[in-house]
Amino acid sequence: SPTVIWFRRDLRTADHPALLSAAERSSSALGLFVLDDRLLASAGPARTDFLHRCLRRLDEELGGRLHVVHGNPVDVLPKVVADLKADSVHISADYGPYGRKRDAEVEKALGDTELVRSGSPYAVAPGRVRKGDGDPFKVFTPFRRAWEEHGWRKPADTDASTVDWVKRKGGGKIPTGDPAPDPLPLWEKFRDERLPDYKTARDRPDLDATSRLSPYLKWGLLHPRTLLAELDDSEGAATFRSELAWREFYADVLWHRPETATKNYDAKFDRMEHDEDDDGRFAAWQEGRTGYPIVDAGMRQLLEEGWIHNRVRMIVASFLVKDLHLPWWWGAKHFMEHLVDGDLASNQHGWQWVAGSGTDAAPYFRVFNPITQGEKFDPSGDYVRRYVPELRDVEGKAVHQPHDPIVDHAHERQVALARYGAIKS
Ligand code: FAD
Repeated sequence: SPTVIWFRRDLRTADHPALLSAAERSSSALGLFVLDDRLLASAGPARTDFLHRCLRRLDEELGGRLHVVHGNPVDVLPKVVADLKADSVHISADYGPYGRKRDAEVEKALGDTELVRSGSPYAVAPGRVRKGDGDPFKVFTPFRRAWEEHGWRKPADTDASTVDWVKRKGGGKIPTGDPAPDPLPLWEKFRDERLPDYKTARDRPDLDATSRLSPYLKWGLLHPRTLLAELDDSEGAATFRSELAWREFYADVLWHRPETATKNYDAKFDRMEHDEDDDGRFAAWQEGRTGYPIVDAGMRQLLEEGWIHNRVRMIVASFLVKDLHLPWWWGAKHFMEHLVDGDLASNQHGWQWVAGSGTDAAPYFRVFNPITQGEKFDPSGDYVRRYVPELRDVEGKAVHQPHDPIVDHAHERQVALARYGAIKS
């Protein structure tokens, strides 16, 4: 009897341990994806559209036989298994709060049919890297060292053509459109041309200096193991490995503390005083109308492209929390809606890092100055001019001066520091 490979955040066939384990059980398999409304509720059109494009790509890899069903996996899986008389269901393990609960429920609903977990979206599964005393790491750098020492498996040698994919009627249609591009040539170009300068250039939003692989890693079109296997000891490679380690660290933190998806990691921040949004400041931030050019450029890039450069994510997040005094989770929700790479662990903990309430938080007195940050990291002003057309005639770094700002940064910084001081004691 055939097996079922239930794809989730592993929308690829190369280096796919669950495919390997399914193929060991049977020569034929059904490739299944469940469009689960509860999981997609936080995603806006950009992320949903990208998911559809990833599904089209996977469908092509399976010779047009990906079976897509709309519904709750707890209902869908037992039904598919019963109809097919399937031997087993194979998955890459999910470590997010929702995925863990869902998989436990599906496992129960499957009864005697085995749910086989092989691999995960990470090089090292969350929960595995621990301190000597068995406790989880709370600080990044020692985590990264232990993670590197732990090491990871070599990429698995898998090939879709070794499986006889079951053709199945019914199910939903994948919305039409171009399939997502193959990320491998993208990676190889970055590796050969940009990685040597990555350490210094990665902070410059005006340059195209980062890999832009985050959406592909999010949906697993590419596994981090594949990238790690090709990184040497050069400075650029070490920095890139460290960025991948942040992704793994945040997944580990969220696995140990699932409640931090919505709550402060550091509970003293529960006492932080926030402002009301009685003057439309949140909408001004969302729409890129704060009057601080680099903030506005970042927020408009998010709406236009579903992606923002990491340095600018930090600047706009700091502005929401420390200049507008609004809760980090408002900003995190807006990001999750619009980011194509929206990932619960990286996003919620990226926000908490900036807000000061997370692991490894930047010291509370570190308030990003949107003008000097702009001048330093977008020295020519090209990044701002690209996204804020009304400033296109302003030359050079003068473009970073505020235009009719909604708040005064120097004053709000003092307010933020006083509030942090109050909860610190
Ligand atoms: P590169 O510089 O090429 O890095 C390679 C990969 O390393 C990235 O694709 C990503 O998987 C990982 N990575 C790099 N930096 C980080 C980091 N700080 N934390 C975790 N992983 C990292 N990343 C997401 O993937 N999804 C999110 O929802 C997300 N939200 C964020 C929110 C805030 C407030 C902040 C400050 C950061 C957030 N990040 C998030 C992390 C980071 O900004 C993006 O991963 C990065 O900008 C993606 O671009 P890239 O692929 O070109 O990165």
